[in-house]
Amino acid sequence: MNLTANDHRIPLNDGNSIPIIGLGTYSDIKTKDLCTQSVMTAIDIGYRHIDGALAYGNEHEVGKAIHKKMAEGKVKREDIFYCGKLWPTFFMPEMVRPALEETLNNLQLDYIDLYIIETPMALKPGNNLFPKDENGHWIYHDINLCKTWEVECHPYFIQTKLLKFCQSHDIVIVAYSPLGTARTPEWVNLELPPMLKDPLLISLGKKYNKSPAQISLRFNVQRGIVVIPKSFDAGRIKENFQIFDFMLTDEDMQKLEALNKNIRFVLMKMWTDHPEYPFHDEY
Ligand code: NDP
Repeated sequence: MNLTANDHRIPLNDGNSIPIIGLGTYSDIKTKDLCTQSVMTAIDIGYRHIDGALAYGNEHEVGKAIHKKMAEGKVKREDIFYCGKLWPTFFMPEMVRPALEETLNNLQLDYIDLYIIETPMALKPGNNLFPKDENGHWIYHDINLCKTWEVECHPYFIQTKLLKFCQSHDIVIVAYSPLGTARTPEWVNLELPPMLKDPLLISLGKKYNKSPAQISLRFNVQRGIVVIPKSFDAGRIKENFQIFDFMLTDEDMQKLEALNKNIRFVLMKMWTDHPEYPFHDEY
């Protein structure tokens, strides 16, 4: 598949398509103007896929950016692929539609392109997104949930078995945290070394005149995996998009595969005793 900066959608088995790179918008730093500015910058650079969620608390700012770019005539609504997410306090069937409507209202859009279950671990239903009891313990909820899950994937966690399974069933994988996350302690296993400092990523970067981040992203893209790197820095948003003008050799792809450690960064450690905690199972 010849993917370019202008044309990098890959087909989905329902006839739709998804741009192979998207802008991640989760940020623990709640700087709202920076969010709007970053999404506008990304659209100017050529990103057409935005990964967001109600729980990120910045959908309104993301929507504002999309609207500004539509008003300027830079993009039409159908050019943009927006992925939204259902937060685990809204898993009761009757709560799904209102949660989606809240997302649409925040974005001021009348549809989104993909709606996924953010995590299979249900929490106490209601508008408190982080429900805890009087002792500070999380309040879980038991619900019969279809086990839908998106997949962390990067050179330290290459997901060969899952990738083969998905490809054999025409299912596209979206890799969150493709740069190894922002290493937020609440969500992330900080015992792992920062991936972008890996000597192989650095040396391949020198060889291709690219950064370790670009090598990591290109590695996933060459395997047909969609990437949604988050950056709210104009230079890095641009850098992360400049991955369509080079190709890693088969030999270098194999070297990158050998970096695999089968360990996740995003472990959601605070929910390991949840009955639906997904990461005890092999994928
Ligand atoms: P990423 O792997 O995308 O890494 C983001 C971090 O890398 C930020 O600190 C960013 O800082 C930095 N960064 C970005 N570009 C570069 C670069 N070129 N060189 C060096 N550092 C860079 O982590 P995320 O965990 O944020 O994952 C991406 C997105 O995936 C999320 O934002 C979210 O949209 C989605 N996601 C979904 C999940 C789910 O639904 N279950 C779970 C986790 C993520 P800066 O902004 O300063 O550039």
